Amino acid sequence: MVLSELAVRLNCAEYKNWVKAGHCLLLLRSCLQGFIGREVLAFHRGLLAAAPGLGLRASCSGGSRCSPRARQFQPQCQACAEWKREILKHHLNRNGDVYWGNCQPGRWPVDAWEVAKAFMPRGLADKRGPEECDAAALLSLINSCDHFMVDRKKVTELLTSDWAVHIPEEDQRDGRECEIGSYLSVSQVNEIEMELLKEKLQEIYRQAEEQEVFSEEISNQLEVVKEFLRNNEDLRNGLTEVMQKLDSLHLQHQKLDSKEAVIQTPEKKA
Ligand SMILES: [Zn+2]
Repeated sequence: MVLSELAVRLNCAEYKNWVKAGHCLLLLRSCLQGFIGREVLAFHRGLLAAAPGLGLRASCSGGSRCSPRARQFQPQCQACAEWKREILKHHLNRNGDVYWGNCQPGRWPVDAWEVAKAFMPRGLADKRGPEECDAAALLSLINSCDHFMVDRKKVTELLTSDWAVHIPEEDQRDGRECEIGSYLSVSQVNEIEMELLKEKLQEIYRQAEEQEVFSEEISNQLEVVKEFLRNNEDLRNGLTEVMQKLDSLHLQHQKLDSKEAVIQTPEKKA
């Protein structure tokens, strides 16, 4: 049964390409994780060596007053103010969005990863290391921090590529469903699909959480994935947890919505 559902999906050339590209992205992620873990430590050591004042002696005295929120951070103590200045010195996006809300400034003197998160996209406050991050988050760090010497144009190209979930379509069948099976086993293909969908759903969750509403765009994206999962039981089973999380967030937002203005969303007839 699993096999036949997978065979139908892999019958679509575009879907197969999506899985292949996703496979590369997952390989890239696992290589980047080790590399970035080491480099972030080196970067932190470098900062402390260049400015010893940033070390342990400079611990935060502002307490909860030194708590950043989203893009806002007004340090209330000298240590945090110095750290903020130092981070901005190395930030290549210093005039744009810096998601200070990712960080616990009080930990900057002792925790390299808390510093790294200032160079990453929103919504990563709870990530405790590179092994918990996806490729896009790690590539953003590389692109925003001047410690990394890379061809930033190439990294940007990767970052702006469209990784949206590709839903197989009938008319794109190429009839060569076995081709991908020649270098990946069925369970490997399944694992890749699952991982890609999970990343996508987590991204949708982060967006919804950040915007504090389920915008029409997010609702539509979610509906497309749901429809896809309805027809592909083998994938649905592995994604129950993240789907439940999304559904309860959706419900929460709907309750808030109905208290304020009532927005009618068209219900799909089953
Ligand atoms: Zn402080």
